[in-house]
Amino acid sequence: MIKRRHTGTIKIGDVAIGSGHPISVQSMTNVVTEDTESLIKQIKELEDYNCEIARVSVNTLDAAKSLKKAIKQASIPVIADIHFDHRLAIESIKAGVSGLRINPGNIGDKKKVKEVVSACKSKGVPIRIGVNSGSLEKGILNKNKGDFAAAMVESALKHIKILEEESFLDIKISLKSTDVLTTVRGYELLARHVDYPFHIGITEAGTAFSGALKSGEGLGILLYKGLGDTLRVSLSDDPVMEVIAGFNILRNLGLRKGGVKLLSCPTCARTEIDIVNIAREFERLSSKIKSDIKVAIMGCVVNGPGESKHADIGIAGGKNKSVLFSRGKIIGKYDNRDILNALINGVENITGEKIV
Ligand code: SF4
Repeated sequence: MIKRRHTGTIKIGDVAIGSGHPISVQSMTNVVTEDTESLIKQIKELEDYNCEIARVSVNTLDAAKSLKKAIKQASIPVIADIHFDHRLAIESIKAGVSGLRINPGNIGDKKKVKEVVSACKSKGVPIRIGVNSGSLEKGILNKNKGDFAAAMVESALKHIKILEEESFLDIKISLKSTDVLTTVRGYELLARHVDYPFHIGITEAGTAFSGALKSGEGLGILLYKGLGDTLRVSLSDDPVMEVIAGFNILRNLGLRKGGVKLLSCPTCARTEIDIVNIAREFERLSSKIKSDIKVAIMGCVVNGPGESKHADIGIAGGKNKSVLFSRGKIIGKYDNRDILNALINGVENITGEKIV
């Protein structure tokens, strides 16, 4: 049982973030924010995959206008990601965002900080201070003798102080490096100083394969140590993949329930069907499911059902026909070209949820 670090709570729309609440999964849109139609489409797709918070880059005033229209259509809270320009933060708040990612030390003089803080306070909009090892302030790394983790912590504390001086405590913090152990050490060090919730992630982690692996390692260590209240898996891929990866990490550590637990055989000389593509396709499609269900995709009838006795439903490949089984017992036989559909129908029947 993982014991989470005690933190305060902030609210991004109706999603509570802090140690008293489930660890939420976020992603970030990658379409052009000014393209409202594509933005809405992508947020809707993230919603379909149970993403709980969507972050959107706002680089122009037109982007803030587009965001306003998208927020009206969105069912999940939206965070605006702002760099440097405090006017974009104010416009995003007017557009109805539920959170801001902005570093107060980067937006200029105290007057600008006060303006942003006052707009956040009036609308109940929290701020994420997001420190990345690649964009640390000049001098801070030298001062910490090249220790990136310590430098990220010093930078975060500096930004936190600016907000605290404005009596603004509605904060969460992230410290992201591309290096797993630097990220872990950064959060560990920061946890000694503050009890604000942590947004965790490994930045620029890589592709859907290498990035999910690296994120699984980094976030796995952090979560096991009780550090982390909301997360984003950063991938060079479709943002939906980030959501799927995020829920998988949490589910595997017993930190979130719900969704498909997929077992699939590694294939061997006995494999009778195209397990690799069937498993891939099923995984993507079934990641929309909210119910708890264990599904097995196995390559042979001889060992398949037996090797996955505890699966609620599964398939085992045969030469021309494959079987559908449940908890080790065969419940149907189908042509190989129909077996994926049979599995999908079976999962829909058990969960009462629609996959396609
Ligand atoms: Fe091989 Fe069958 Fe085991 Fe898959 S289930 S690894 S095909 S023996």
